Amino acid sequence: MSREIRWQDLGPSDPLVQLGWDDFRQPRRVTGEAPAAPLAAFVSRTALEAMRAHARSSPAAEVGGILCGQAYRLAGSSCVMVDVATAIPARAADGTPVHLQFTAAAWDQVFAERSRSASDLEIVGWYHTHPGLGVFLSGTDRHTQAAFFGQDWQVAMVLDPHSGDEGAFFGPDGAGTAFSTYAAPTPAKLARRPPGPTLAPDRQLAPSPLRQRGIQPDGPLARMLLAAAGLLATGVAMLAIQARTGRKR
Ligand SMILES: [Zn+2]
Repeated sequence: MSREIRWQDLGPSDPLVQLGWDDFRQPRRVTGEAPAAPLAAFVSRTALEAMRAHARSSPAAEVGGILCGQAYRLAGSSCVMVDVATAIPARAADGTPVHLQFTAAAWDQVFAERSRSASDLEIVGWYHTHPGLGVFLSGTDRHTQAAFFGQDWQVAMVLDPHSGDEGAFFGPDGAGTAFSTYAAPTPAKLARRPPGPTLAPDRQLAPSPLRQRGIQPDGPLARMLLAAAGLLATGVAMLAIQARTGRKR
């Protein structure tokens, strides 16, 4: 079956929902002052436990999935707060001790799950494990982050189920950051968006690095570039995402 593939141009800026600190922290039971850093990650216990359980289930091979939630601009500040409300394991992904491939079947399963349990949430990033290897973003991980989760605020989480180490990395360069956890009762309560403009899924996942270079993202040159970057497998999977996202519109 052939799938329709639709690419979207990125606008000059993404209209993030503006939210006051009290409005952000109170429903999530977050304590403390508003973040001072340009980017801040908040991860629900629900999402963290889902990632940890997935990581523990596979101590010898890498596993991963997507992170759903919402990004907000802190009112009166340039800070972007990323709320990771849920983690959806890509159970059909193909993992080895040092590699993880998100197959088309894996994305089919992930998007079916997202439709059921997180349809009101945006994709705010991804996660995967490094069993026994420590927490960092490899070169391949940074390519994946830059190509497919390229917004500055999109987060990559890495977990090592052997050591228990966990880390969060922001943006196309994969800069490491601390993250906060929160204990809101249910992700469903987080799914309700405040009024105002928000991100469309297409805008999040549009392959801006290719488009900015004037390369047709679905042309042969782009495919060669992707292959050269070792991203072909991931690219195929993400084309499936684009197809899914495109069809929803
Ligand atoms: Zn990795």
